[in-house]
Amino acid sequence: MALRRSRKRHILPDGATVAVVGAGPAGCFFAFRLLRESKEQDRSLRVVLIERKADPHTGAIRGCNGCAGGISPRLADALQANHIRLPSDVIQTRIRTVTLQGEWKNVELRVPDDRRMYAAFRGALPSRRSARTRGLDEFLLRLALAEGAELLAGEVQEFRRRADGGIDVCYRVGGETRAKAHWLLADFVALATGVNHTPGLPFREQRFLRAILPLLPRFRPPKIRRTLVAEVRIASRSLRPLLGEAFFGGYGSGRIRIEMSSMIPKREFLTVVLIGPTVDRAQRGDGQAIIAEFFRLPHVQRILPLRFEAPVACLCGPGIPVTAARGYVADRVAAVGDLAVARLYKDGLYSAFLTARALADTVLQLGVDARSLREGYMPVVEKLRRDNRYGRLVFLLNRIAFGNRGLSRILYQAILTERKSKPEHQRRLAQILWKIASGDDSYRRVFFSMFHPKAIYRIVVGGLLVTLRNVATEAVFGLKWEGFGRYPTGLHREDFVAKKTDILPILEAFGLGHTPDVERMYSIRVRSTPARILRELGRFGDPDRQFFRPRFVDVRRVAGEPNRVGCRVRYKLPFPRLSFQVELVSVEPGRRLVYRVLDGFARGGLLLFELDRCQPKCHLLSIYVGFNFPRGRNVIQRLLWRVFAIFFPGFAHDVVWNHSLCQLKHLIESQ
Ligand SMILES: Cc1cc2nc3c(=O)[nH]c(=O)nc-3n(C[C@H](O)[C@H](O)[C@H](O)COP(=O)(O)OP(=O)(O)OC[C@H]3O[C@@H](n4cnc5c(N)ncnc54)[C@H](O)[C@@H]3O)c2cc1C
Repeated sequence: MALRRSRKRHILPDGATVAVVGAGPAGCFFAFRLLRESKEQDRSLRVVLIERKADPHTGAIRGCNGCAGGISPRLADALQANHIRLPSDVIQTRIRTVTLQGEWKNVELRVPDDRRMYAAFRGALPSRRSARTRGLDEFLLRLALAEGAELLAGEVQEFRRRADGGIDVCYRVGGETRAKAHWLLADFVALATGVNHTPGLPFREQRFLRAILPLLPRFRPPKIRRTLVAEVRIASRSLRPLLGEAFFGGYGSGRIRIEMSSMIPKREFLTVVLIGPTVDRAQRGDGQAIIAEFFRLPHVQRILPLRFEAPVACLCGPGIPVTAARGYVADRVAAVGDLAVARLYKDGLYSAFLTARALADTVLQLGVDARSLREGYMPVVEKLRRDNRYGRLVFLLNRIAFGNRGLSRILYQAILTERKSKPEHQRRLAQILWKIASGDDSYRRVFFSMFHPKAIYRIVVGGLLVTLRNVATEAVFGLKWEGFGRYPTGLHREDFVAKKTDILPILEAFGLGHTPDVERMYSIRVRSTPARILRELGRFGDPDRQFFRPRFVDVRRVAGEPNRVGCRVRYKLPFPRLSFQVELVSVEPGRRLVYRVLDGFARGGLLLFELDRCQPKCHLLSIYVGFNFPRGRNVIQRLLWRVFAIFFPGFAHDVVWNHSLCQLKHLIESQ
């Protein structure tokens, strides 16, 4: 069809045919946008999607475009802006918490209330899902078809350019070279095939890439890296406590070298994605062994149920683009989505959306000639290419910080200090990590925010200095981190306030309704029943207990029965004047133990253990400590107690209980 020319631009006339090769996200977003916008402009185009995974009879998408299926907040926003609502059979889970796995401890980041993050399956795999679910690709395809696109099932294997510029697209059903060739004459071709070429193999030896060359003579495909994707079937009762969470890691071990990992629970499956030298070098058939080794990593063990068996339901090794293509536009043809560029390691679906939208808008508003495509479409791809350079640095720094025990501890501590002291909107470090994990900002902005003086200050003061102090405290009390995992125990400021409000009636009943001089709170998630948790807690004061055994502090039950009102525990310190006793004064079965300090400098204070159910078989164990210093009966005493209060090392309590809570969790969960 002759194209309309306007100021040397080639505009698609009404009735023109647009062939979209590949009905993955980029192809479908492109078709959808093109059709919707052309209708808005009272224009009429024929848009034909050609997809090799489509069933020739039903049009259903078979197999899967291997991917973790994470739908980032920015993609969720973009879908909403286009009035696209993801149905509940596509969404497997709404992600509420993102956990960054660190050598020291994991950093849990809550998805901000105004951001939405989901996980979906991309295709029909893994098969035998118990619930009726649809893949994201199938949903996007139906969306494009509903907008008026046509679907042809077949694999495109050849292109021929006609003298008038039109392009003949050859496709074969089932992709077999001997199958009958079908031809479609197109006025514009969008190449949305993703990257499925073999890494390392010269691209002229790769069939589809060779087929593109008559259309895009200067085309150089993106470099790709192998990944390993596994869908692991896990009994839903084991996985349920993890639903709504996404776990990202950046390191492996001496045996398995991983640069990036993600685990996303989806009902009865856990989607695992691994990238790294071990995967780069893996041979066919190594996948299962790599996944099994991955599950044995200590930081993975910290997350997964301890007695964890992992039947892999499906496994694949798709490529992920790590650079952008070159020469991806020419007259009446352009590569889009992964085949042009993808956001590095994160949020490729969103970059597929961005490139598809830019291409559709260019085709409609500027034209399909090479110049129009260069002016309208290329800047979007080039911007992503430039941004990925910062992405590389961001991921490198991230990997170094989280993969090194010392640095990871400093970073964790800095986040914790910020969390305790700053309101949510001022948590600069948490925001940086959230943006890296979720893809919620450009890599460039993330990179510069990492070096903002305030961020550096918080890492040095709230991270490095506090860590040095804590390490010294651990040395004094002889606390060793061996034989059990390290888990987050610090509370967000707002959680502290909420919990305090919750227990206020108890505090008031014991005369601590005001804010006491010293007030601390810690919490840890324990995957167990209240009975088991309280049974272990009842050993507080037993001579052979395996938690809370700081050097120099002899903690003994001196009267009563465990977890029974009247039970007394003595804290004997090297300085007799600092020793004291606590007595269990109130028990709410299955929920709460309240100890009162009977004597010593913290007399009248409270030590409270409380359990809250967070998920089935998972409880949040919180510890609250509050007391007032003695006021003194005369000026000298008052002065002395003031000095004591100023120098009182409240942080020592944090360090000891942080250590003890991790021990407790380990003891309970390994029972
Ligand atoms: C392991 C892994 C995990 C990922 N996780 C995420 C994530 O959690 N979130 C996220 O946003 N992004 C993720 N991505 C990136 C994301 O998958 C891609 O960016 C996105 O799929 C790109 O879409 P696309 O349409 O360009 O390509 P694809 O999704 O690859 O779709 C291309 C389509 O073209 C078809 N096709 C190919 N060749 C032909 C042919 N010759 N003829 C006809 N049809 C053809 C294919 O069958 C396919 O349906 C991940 C990628 C990988 C590799």
